[in-house]
Amino acid sequence: MVESQGLLPRDARHVWHPYAPVEEEQLYAARSADGALLRLEDPQGQEHTAIDAMGSWWAMVHGHAHPKLIDALRRQSEIMPHVMFGGLTHEPAVRLAECLVANSPSDLQHVFFSDSGSIAVEIALKMVIQYQAATGRPDKNRMLTVRGGYHGDTFATMSLCDPVDGMHHAFSPLATQHIFAPRPPGGHYDVADGSWNWDDQALNTWAEEFESILADHRDRIGGVILEPVLQGAGGMYVYDPRALAVARHACDAHDCLLVLDEIATGFGRTGRWTASEWAGIEPDIMCLGKALTGGTLTGAATLTTIRVAKEVSGGRNGMPAALLHGPTFMGNPLFCTVSLASLELLTDEESGWARQVPRLERLLADGLAPARKLNSVADVRVLGAVGVIELNRDVDVRAVTRAAVRRGVWIRPFRRLVYVMPPYITTDAQTRQICHGLIEAIDEVHG
Ligand SMILES: *Cc1c(COP(=O)(O)O)cnc(C)c1O
Repeated sequence: MVESQGLLPRDARHVWHPYAPVEEEQLYAARSADGALLRLEDPQGQEHTAIDAMGSWWAMVHGHAHPKLIDALRRQSEIMPHVMFGGLTHEPAVRLAECLVANSPSDLQHVFFSDSGSIAVEIALKMVIQYQAATGRPDKNRMLTVRGGYHGDTFATMSLCDPVDGMHHAFSPLATQHIFAPRPPGGHYDVADGSWNWDDQALNTWAEEFESILADHRDRIGGVILEPVLQGAGGMYVYDPRALAVARHACDAHDCLLVLDEIATGFGRTGRWTASEWAGIEPDIMCLGKALTGGTLTGAATLTTIRVAKEVSGGRNGMPAALLHGPTFMGNPLFCTVSLASLELLTDEESGWARQVPRLERLLADGLAPARKLNSVADVRVLGAVGVIELNRDVDVRAVTRAAVRRGVWIRPFRRLVYVMPPYITTDAQTRQICHGLIEAIDEVHG
């Protein structure tokens, strides 16, 4: 306790937290973590055990300190924790690439490893630009995307985030000018019967506009980038999966590559292994991250097709015959080994995502439904192991966080959204506790 009382002032003196001033106003100390549970101390030094309902930002799918992942890390750390990837290869990297390809849409055959999700998107952008230039279309160096998206925090990726809610304003004119279409119409997924309620009219209207924007700018647009079905950090927005088929078709018609950013949605989170499966389409480039390592380490991957890889490597039209990227820690053996262990757990027939996510989906749908009765609640939506309560006002983040932690639930709301994506191993009882905790916390603070 004495030590922890010193921790927050020491933090405030030197440590910067995400999207925060250097002195963040309300921090908790995380003491340890095991399974779905975090041991926290609040700013008053009081201890709490709280379920990590955020899955530590989508990543912690197997829970904290999973023995299989820890064991994989320990073993690899004794063999070779790191080695450069330029000119060298190793078993964990080759096995991970094989495993990702085997578990991905069939045309995706080549894997580029990197450090984090934002970088995986940067690499996807380089693939698009290099591909277009190599095929004699160097002016097709802009992307078309939709409003409300989130693709990362680096300079190239933030230019693809929502132009109003993102960081364009703070960094203009350094943000690259990409082209934005409206966000696709909302998708209404009915958990009880596992079906979507279509709005054909809304989809057709959107499709016409999307296609005409792409046609108008076809000489400049080299690719389309989307978060499939669920926009995450841009607003936890679920849209009609058929919009992806529209995008796929429009890309093919105008020599554009389709990039799907599955960094948040991949590995079963939305109730399909990849969210693009909801639409039955395949991308030309796919970005993976977050849950890739099972949440233990940072790491990401960009996958692409033989066609794209060949052009990027071909050196035609004055382009260098190489993909122009190479992070220092690319293909880190610890990252590869722990990702392989995570994939093994995820694809286990008895206990993997395909068992757990539908279970969590039903529990979240039942448990969060009563939130609709609160005056402050505008919408409740559940897709896979993602539950969202949208308020009709901005969330008092500090007050709602405190109220939830007192009920044993760790959350990190933003704007009007209180949302959860718990680890897949979260038990039935813990999932019910999350739902009760959220509803009571919102009721207490906002009514
Ligand atoms: C989190 C996220 C990113 C960025 O990943 P980092 O590892 O934070 O760089 C990119 N795209 C999507 C959809 C994300 O959710």
